[in-house]
Amino acid sequence: MNIRNYIDGTFSDPLGGQFLDNIDPSTGNAYGLIPRSQAADVDLAAAAAKAAFPSWSSLSAAERSSWLMKVSNAIDAKLDTLALAESKDNGKPLKLATTVDIPRARDNFKFYATAILHDAYETHDMGVNGFNYTLRQPIGVAGCISPWNLPLYLFSWKIAPALAAGNTVIAKPSEVTPATAYLLSEILDEIGFPKGVLNIVHGLGAEIGAAIVAHNDINIISFTGGTQTGKSISAVAAPMFKKISLELGGKNANVIFDDCDFKDAVNTSVRAAFANQGQICLCGSRIYVQRGIYEKFKIAFLERVNGLTVADPLSNEARIGAVVSKEHMEKVLRYIELAKEEGGTLLTGGYRVKLEGRCKKGYFIAPTVFENLPATCRTNQEEIFGPVVTLTPFDTEEEALTMANGTAYGLAATIWTSDLKTAHRMGAGLHAGIVWVNCWLLRDLRTPFGGVKQSGVGREGGFEALRFFTEPKNICIKL
Ligand code: NAD
Repeated sequence: MNIRNYIDGTFSDPLGGQFLDNIDPSTGNAYGLIPRSQAADVDLAAAAAKAAFPSWSSLSAAERSSWLMKVSNAIDAKLDTLALAESKDNGKPLKLATTVDIPRARDNFKFYATAILHDAYETHDMGVNGFNYTLRQPIGVAGCISPWNLPLYLFSWKIAPALAAGNTVIAKPSEVTPATAYLLSEILDEIGFPKGVLNIVHGLGAEIGAAIVAHNDINIISFTGGTQTGKSISAVAAPMFKKISLELGGKNANVIFDDCDFKDAVNTSVRAAFANQGQICLCGSRIYVQRGIYEKFKIAFLERVNGLTVADPLSNEARIGAVVSKEHMEKVLRYIELAKEEGGTLLTGGYRVKLEGRCKKGYFIAPTVFENLPATCRTNQEEIFGPVVTLTPFDTEEEALTMANGTAYGLAATIWTSDLKTAHRMGAGLHAGIVWVNCWLLRDLRTPFGGVKQSGVGREGGFEALRFFTEPKNICIKL
């Protein structure tokens, strides 16, 4: 697959003529080229998006909805092709891409296609004096930058509300996983999507990503990725007074009380720890278990973890695929060494898995569990973003809350208890934008999604995203 930029409804190579290799992490082999675009390519995309804005933003909500539904339907029609491309590009099990990633990308477009049909503006009545109504107008050109862990899923989660609200878009997928974004541009081409409305450009974050953030004609930045990248984006975009949404890293706590539904807590905690090789920002990597069930939980958890098959992502039995890249594999393996240096007891995993055949050079890591690490050590404080979790016992609710809240992050948290009062107290007390009680990753697209502290600024999801991608303008009329 030789990927090309999609600017103003036309496929093109980067102006500088440079390309990057696209690597399949399950084999370690390059299987295509990615444009290494530069600021001049962003200039072209920005000019196209700016020119397309007046006509796109003046379409009715129903007309924009109809275009987004066409995209959603086309994703659905190509679900298997897209899932295969996602699995190959990212290393995730094909089954996961087929049942989670691509259906969700389809649903993101459908959700915002229908959401704008039901959006309404506020009015504020001043009685005999007059009244106010608040318009929510699209802002202009939105820059949407997304990461590699859920490539098309998160790419579309930004693009769909930006377009639905009436903005035009320049979108950049991660250079590590650009394939499905490119296939999306093929879909746009096939359905005759209006030119210049959605431009998809490829390249390195420090080059083209930074050029998008700094561009004078790109008025709003929606970013999902690492906390350090978020900081550097803020440093550029904030003084330019751009609207910014930042969805950043996490180090999520999974707090399991003695009175939980034991079987459900074990099974779901395994999924929360290792789904997508632990490369989901919402994964529960710090598992706190109340003392009364700690040993029993540990035995059951390890038994389930040891049953997870690490295999070729394309095979039916794969529950754990490859991590996304060689660099990322090496980073995760370094964290495993760090956990040992910090005094952790390795309960299972802790090594690179060497498979036979097609995947013999692939980047696989065994699901890894440590215990006996203090809550304050680096292993329990820093985002590893791989198949590595820690188990820690606690005695009281206060102790669990202190440890759960004791990191710089605040994205998501999970609580397992059958006591409603505990659930409410913990839910209110946790420093997190998202709290799941007796479940994990149970998603309703209408709900606000995002984190506190170093996990981000702003919220995606539901009408929150439509609010972000519009400016409110109050009009006051005297009677
Ligand atoms: P990353 O920050 O390295 O890259 C994310 C995107 O930003 C990529 O497209 C990259 O090319 C681009 N980028 C890099 N430097 C840039 C710069 N200076 N200016 C503009 N763009 C730049 O993150 P990643 O490694 O791709 O993704 C993993 C991270 O994403 C993890 O920290 C994870 O927790 C986080 N994440 C957060 C959420 C969430 O919703 N909060 C969801 C998924 C992933």
